[in-house]
Amino acid sequence: MIMFCPQCRAQYREGILECAECQRSLVAELPPKPKPQPDLELVTVLATGHPALIAVAKSLLEDSGIEYLTQNEGLHNLFPVHRFRVHIQVRQEDEGEATALLAALEEA
Ligand SMILES: [Zn+2]
Repeated sequence: MIMFCPQCRAQYREGILECAECQRSLVAELPPKPKPQPDLELVTVLATGHPALIAVAKSLLEDSGIEYLTQNEGLHNLFPVHRFRVHIQVRQEDEGEATALLAALEEA
């Protein structure tokens, strides 16, 4: 059986009771990972059925260091293209920058 530090999530073999780093008591099961930002507000900045456009949008966001999520993306493999729109979502704080980037894209 492996024990875990609830603080730094390090693994320890059985018999050790305390994390050497954090001096926390080890637990047999880690609590679920905290979400990065539980109250994260995501804004959809692009919804399109064009895979090419999605690919370009993603690389634009990546180049600008904006983190994003995509919704429905996997469905393109299962259903005809254009039937489902892929939504690209970013953090609310990045919305302005992302919208500006993607506006140029849609005009092109
Ligand atoms: Zn620890």
